[in-house]
Amino acid sequence: MVDLTRRFDVLVIGGGNAALCAAISARRAGASVLVLEGAPKFYRGGNTRHTRNMRCAHDAATEILTGPYTEEEFWKDLLLVTGGQTDEELARFMIHESKDILNWIVEQGVRWQPSLGGTLSLGRTNSFFLGGGRAMLNALYRTAEELGVDILYDAEVIDLNIEDGMFLSAQLKQPVGGRTEVRASTLVAAAGGFEANIEWLKEYWGEAADNFLIRGTPFNRGAILKMLLAKGVQEIGDPTQCHAVAIDARAPKFDGGIITRHDSVVFGIVVNKHAARFYDEGEDIWPKRYAIWGRLVAAQPDQIAYIIFDSTVVTSFMPTLFPPIAGATIAELAGKLELDATALEKTITDFNAAVQPGTFDHTILDDCRTEGITPAKTHWARRIETPPYLAYPVRPGITFTYLGTRVNKQSRMLMKDGRPSANMFAAGEIMAGNVLGKGYAAGIGMTIGSVFGRVAGREAAKNARN
Ligand SMILES: Cc1cc2nc3c(=O)[nH]c(=O)nc-3n(C[C@H](O)[C@H](O)[C@H](O)COP(=O)(O)OP(=O)(O)OC[C@H]3O[C@@H](n4cnc5c(N)ncnc54)[C@H](O)[C@@H]3O)c2cc1C
Repeated sequence: MVDLTRRFDVLVIGGGNAALCAAISARRAGASVLVLEGAPKFYRGGNTRHTRNMRCAHDAATEILTGPYTEEEFWKDLLLVTGGQTDEELARFMIHESKDILNWIVEQGVRWQPSLGGTLSLGRTNSFFLGGGRAMLNALYRTAEELGVDILYDAEVIDLNIEDGMFLSAQLKQPVGGRTEVRASTLVAAAGGFEANIEWLKEYWGEAADNFLIRGTPFNRGAILKMLLAKGVQEIGDPTQCHAVAIDARAPKFDGGIITRHDSVVFGIVVNKHAARFYDEGEDIWPKRYAIWGRLVAAQPDQIAYIIFDSTVVTSFMPTLFPPIAGATIAELAGKLELDATALEKTITDFNAAVQPGTFDHTILDDCRTEGITPAKTHWARRIETPPYLAYPVRPGITFTYLGTRVNKQSRMLMKDGRPSANMFAAGEIMAGNVLGKGYAAGIGMTIGSVFGRVAGREAAKNARN
């Protein structure tokens, strides 16, 4: 039974990777720590439950990573995917610290395994969690409990008492009616983004947001973020920017997880509901481009699109939960997808006619390309001509949002007037916008949570002592 009448050194709001890294690090620094996880125990861990890997810099191959990934290369990758929209000081700090996280996270009980084949060719850059995100979380929870961190589930925070940039207490919603005040010397906000709050998404995306599917937890509704911004914390990031991928249109509204994501785009073409192509499916290698397809589909009529390919490539990518829809002819496939058959036949005929001879290799930017059509497919273009013809319907799958609280290198929140908060820190999705102005490279979400979570916990403990 957690004693809520006492005053804790560090209060952590959230129950995912960032929260647990913060809690463990604060506890190891000698602080008393309370974690408030809004979800029930079975669903603890937010979006972290769905993860598979983390991107960390390292100077040499390891038992599970196939070669070096230097800080400079990580930085260049981040620059490329964000188009320069990142806080260089914080990003370089995160990249530098990520080297140490590779070992630190193992010291907290997490185990690595070599890269999974078949999806994103990440064997050199990303370390995979043995057993996936849930196993990773279980290890962190076990370590936190063994260290004496207090953890409450079903513990949604519904209000924050903040005066002049100083956290005083949080209001906890109790399962039956009432509320309880929880006091602490410092706050670490690690309560995720606002991706599960469709009404909030609609403020920026309009009615289109009704057609979005949310890949992760329904508990990340952004309430803590909203309170912090309303109480004087400086915001960072464009509210329309998020990590969004193309996921199967048959996926559930929330929590469909990784098995609904389609990695087959580069092996075929993508058309909208008018059976028209709308973007270069072969622009760059998939790990650098998979995260743009959610936004691309979001911009199409009715937020629906179809990945079309033929029987020659079915075993080339990781299968998903949902089988492809098949047709013996293009017309039959179009009928099943409720697309105009003549339009789809023309799109595929034009595409096939534009394909140039080349040597296919999906691991490099190969020379298989189209000529004379718009948009071009600049790599991996091969004719779609061997029945059965196959398709996946896809919708925007929102992973997490980038609007967040501005922080400094201590993970300390900055107030609107530029002053650092007296005792409030943030880690994970809730401050991801400091590093990710836009775009994404696989595995950075967990890097942001681990690095800034660890720093936030340490600094919060230090702050509480003073
Ligand atoms: C399907 C999927 C796959 C992914 N795969 C990867 C991957 O392989 N690698 C990678 O780097 N990233 C991946 N991501 C992104 C990654 O999940 C996030 O970047 C990361 O988990 C964020 O950690 P976090 O601790 O900030 O948030 P979360 O893990 O989402 O935790 C937020 C927590 O806050 C709690 N909470 C919210 N509001 C309140 C409240 N008011 N009161 C109390 N608690 C509250 C939630 O219940 C939740 O426990 C994936 C995401 C999804 C959805």
